[in-house]
Amino acid sequence: MHIFKNATDISQYVSSLKAKGKAVGFVPTMGALHDGHLALAETAISENDACVISIFVNPTQFDEKSDFKRYPRTITKDLALIESIGCQALFLPTETQIYPEESYESPQYDFGELGRVMEAAKRPGHFQGVAQVIRRLLAIIPATRLYLGQKDFQQVKIVTKLVTSTLGLATEVRMCPVTRDTDGLAMSSRNVHLSHEERNDARVLYENLAWAKSQVNRLAPAAIKEQVLERMNLTPTLEDVEYFEIVNAETLQPVEDWKDAPAIVACTAVRFPSARLIDNMYLKGSPY
Ligand code: AMP
Repeated sequence: MHIFKNATDISQYVSSLKAKGKAVGFVPTMGALHDGHLALAETAISENDACVISIFVNPTQFDEKSDFKRYPRTITKDLALIESIGCQALFLPTETQIYPEESYESPQYDFGELGRVMEAAKRPGHFQGVAQVIRRLLAIIPATRLYLGQKDFQQVKIVTKLVTSTLGLATEVRMCPVTRDTDGLAMSSRNVHLSHEERNDARVLYENLAWAKSQVNRLAPAAIKEQVLERMNLTPTLEDVEYFEIVNAETLQPVEDWKDAPAIVACTAVRFPSARLIDNMYLKGSPY
C-alpha cells in the first residue's frame, strides 16, 4: 500500500491512474477506523480500479473544541486494518497540507434548507467545515467516486449538493448503508467514550428507529415522534434528545403524512454524558 503525507505526491498518483483510464474510489475518514469505514472502503475497492482512504481529523468541522481534542486517534491500528482489506493508497496529511493558508478563511456555502435543519441547527459551522475539507480533499484527490456513509445522512445530502451543484465536479457521490453492532447501535469512532451503562442504553436509538419503521402506515409521523420522544426520555443515562425527526429524504423537511414523499427517513441525535450520538433509518423508499 502507498502511504502519502504530501498533497502533491498523492495528486500525481491519482492523476496518473486517471490518465490511464482507471477509476479511483475515495473514502475520506477521520480515522479510529471501525467496520463501518471498512465497509465503505470495500465497496470502493470493488467498484473501482483503485481505492484511496484519507485519515484527517478536520479541525474546522468540530463545533466543540473539547470534542476535537479527545477525538480518538489510533493510527497504528488503522494502518493494519487498511492494509488488511487491500486498499491501494492512504493519504495522511498534516494540517498545513489541507489548510496551507494563514487562516481557515474559506467561501461560506449556502445549502438552503439542508443547511438549516437538524445537525446544522444543533452544530453551528459544522457543515461549513465539512464542505471546506471535502472541497480541499477533492482538489487533491479528484476521484471518480466518493464514498460516504448513510450514518451521517444529512452530510451525504449536503456533500452531494456541494460536489454536484455548487462545485460542479464530475465525481459521483455514493452512499453506503449504516454498519451496526450486533445490538443495532450504529458504529461510530465516538462510541469508545461511552461508559458501560451508557453503551447499554445507547441501544435506544436503533430500537426506536426500528419501532418507528414498524409503525409506518399505522400511525401518523407526528404520533410516532411523540411516542418515541416519550420513550427515549425514560432512558436512565440519556441526558437529552436533541431531535427525532421524520423527514423527506431529499429535502430533509418534516413530513406530515406517509404520502408526502417517495422516500422518508427518521433521523435522531441524542446526548449521553460521555458522547453525542446520531443515527437514522429509511422508513420508506430505501435506496439499497
Ligand atoms: P468519520 O471518520 O466519522 O468522519 O466517517 C468517515 C465516513 O465513514 C463517513 O462517510 C461516515 O458517514 C462513514 N461512517 C461512519 N460510521 C459509519 C457506520 N457505522 N456505517 C457506515 N458508514 C459509516
